[in-house]
Amino acid sequence: CGIVGYIGEKDSKEILLKGLERLEYRGYDSAGIAVRNSEGITVFKEKGRIADLRGAVSGDVTGNTGIGHTRWATHGKPSKMNAHPHQNTSDRFTIVHNGVIENYHHLQRDYLADVAMESDTDTEIIVQLIGKFVEEGQTTQEAFSKALQLMKGSYAIALLDAEEAQTIFVAKNKSPLLVGLGEGFNVVASDAMAMLQVTDQFVELMDKEIVIVRKDSVDILTLAGEKVERAPFTAEIDM
Ligand code: GLU
Repeated sequence: CGIVGYIGEKDSKEILLKGLERLEYRGYDSAGIAVRNSEGITVFKEKGRIADLRGAVSGDVTGNTGIGHTRWATHGKPSKMNAHPHQNTSDRFTIVHNGVIENYHHLQRDYLADVAMESDTDTEIIVQLIGKFVEEGQTTQEAFSKALQLMKGSYAIALLDAEEAQTIFVAKNKSPLLVGLGEGFNVVASDAMAMLQVTDQFVELMDKEIVIVRKDSVDILTLAGEKVERAPFTAEIDM
């Protein structure tokens, strides 16, 4: 339902939680964030309100990269287990996803028959697929690109790789997703509203592009790996 992401120099937790609160009006049944630091990636998620999630988030964990999600369940009942972020079996990859993967059952059958799923969501298939392709020798970018080519349906995705510091991988198809630009940080949001407190400069993303977001750069690529240039726009929404 809603996606946020932050990569920069501050602790990401509060920016993510505030962003999710700004998306609350859209409705949701659960919420979660993943925070990355030098120790790895920590996931916090809860069924219910952002306030419940806040209560579950440990102040001791800080990290200047993070992603967050409010879920409106389509596959799998509303529960803590089905709340996003989701991780692959090795916990190397962490994902948040809006939308519906229409062919998730086929993808599971064809590529993931030997993988034990931890949730009932279509979303977990995406992160398990990426993990599988990387285990088979692909780079994260190649694995992400391959997964995007195989997936049918609607999605906005933000992905963290525990072994690739300071990067959020992003893509969309038929679901909205924007990258917001800052000085020394960048953000990701399914709705500009979520991040207007930190920037009003946003770059629109087109369907089936791979976007590599770092704190000082945003690289937009086609699935074939060609670089795309796109100027930001100024979001003018009353706060
Ligand atoms: N299909 C996914 C799920 O059920 C994402 C739903 C959403 O857009 O929040 O978990």
